Amino acid sequence: MTKLYQNYIDGQFVADSTDVVGVFNPATNSLLANIPDSDEAMVARAVEAARRAQPGWEKLPPIVRAGYLRQISAKLREHRLDLAGIIVREQGKTQQLAQVEVDFTADYIDYMAEWARRLDGEIITSDRANENIFLFRKPIGVVAGILPWNFPFFLIARKMAPALVTGNTIVIKPSEETPINAYEFARLVAETDLPRGVFNLVGGLGKSTGEALVLHPDVGLITFTGSVATGSRIMQTAARNLTRVNLELGGKAPAIVLADADLDLAAKAIYDSRVINTGQVCNCAERVYVERGAHEGFVNRLEKHFRDTRYGDPSERDDLQMGPLINQAALDKVSTLVEQARRDGATVLTGGKVADLGQGFHYEPTLIVDARRDMNIMRKEIFGPVLPIQVVDSLDEAIELSNDSEFGLTSSIFTRNINSAMQAARELRFGETYINRENFEAMQGFHAGRRKSGIGGADGKHGLLEFTETHIVYLQA
Ligand code: NAD
Repeated sequence: MTKLYQNYIDGQFVADSTDVVGVFNPATNSLLANIPDSDEAMVARAVEAARRAQPGWEKLPPIVRAGYLRQISAKLREHRLDLAGIIVREQGKTQQLAQVEVDFTADYIDYMAEWARRLDGEIITSDRANENIFLFRKPIGVVAGILPWNFPFFLIARKMAPALVTGNTIVIKPSEETPINAYEFARLVAETDLPRGVFNLVGGLGKSTGEALVLHPDVGLITFTGSVATGSRIMQTAARNLTRVNLELGGKAPAIVLADADLDLAAKAIYDSRVINTGQVCNCAERVYVERGAHEGFVNRLEKHFRDTRYGDPSERDDLQMGPLINQAALDKVSTLVEQARRDGATVLTGGKVADLGQGFHYEPTLIVDARRDMNIMRKEIFGPVLPIQVVDSLDEAIELSNDSEFGLTSSIFTRNINSAMQAARELRFGETYINRENFEAMQGFHAGRRKSGIGGADGKHGLLEFTETHIVYLQA
């Protein structure tokens, strides 16, 4: 019989009578498990548990809160192989990348726990002789974390760890595409001493569970990672209660390759960026601007990488570079964008069609040249293993094209000239720029998008502060 997972609320797994949602393996389209489609009453129960637990949690010294976080990270490490296996099956990641995700998640929780002794406020000079002005950083209260499916396990930690170390409690809603890893995360949390109600998990669809969470008046902050369309809708819904939002949305990262670049490095980094997680990564290169002098050498190198890609069902083999896309809708979207590009005059050098593996949602690694700025393939988020390339005649042109986007998450440049690198750092209007390296953010950095890529950010000190609000105290004595 297919397993039905149960929500984790107030330190208990809750049997529930609501509708269920099926979870499928994208490599085979076979049913893995069911989860509840939690309704308004179930969501209210979770938020109420988090609200009741919060004042006691806030009163604990931060270092004690950090101790509970470290118990959780230790549990994740203990079960690292099983957890990676679950991510492989429900999300379609390669085994290697799933393991990286689990290990990085545990490290991230420890990193955020380290902030316990570093959380501070400010003392501000007063105009009065007998007064001190203190600025405290206080928790917001109950945080709702709404997650996407592409790094489903890591995103739990990116929401939970900074929320908890700063004294908030949390209700997590995983993506309906990839909730099993989150239920397993909750099972491990239940084995720690974390006080009940501090971490809660409710599964379900966006329009039922997600909406109910966003609308709940006792939620103080909604931290969301996902698409621009959903982020925009959440912001509108949250406006009813003036609930704060932190939105990590889509990207269309440009990669600039200048004629003086190390082409082996550029081709490998940009190729990896396109096949990692089957191109379903918000910060990875989605379009390339290559200087005319480097075009041929760069494309030749890339073409070899694309043709040699090992892809398939990642549960079957541990040496794959790429698994399936997440679902049929993703496969249709990628296919449509490539077809449009072809019709608009681009040249497909490799791939360009659904992979014939008999089952699942596989797309061939696809390299496209002769792309132009007006094509959808250069403007819309592809979120698949497809790389379009446009030739440019100067760095100025590349920067102008890069900035001409509704997205502003990440960007990259490959050059051996420090002046070119610094010009790009000054003029690229993105939250992040990677110079001569792969697109991958550090936990101590600050991952934040401009324009439609989001509001606020995550990671590091600045990400941590998003989970706090200020309280200013005037002490006259
Ligand atoms: P999505 O927007 O479809 O869904 C994300 C979550 O929102 C899911 O849990 C879903 O159930 C929920 N949801 C849907 N409608 C809702 C509503 N009306 N109210 C409340 N919740 C609702 O996104 P996705 O397809 O899961 O993720 C892919 C997208 O995420 C891509 O655009 C990608 O770029 C983006 N992403 C961004 C970052 C970042 O850090 N900026 C990281 C990862 C993914």
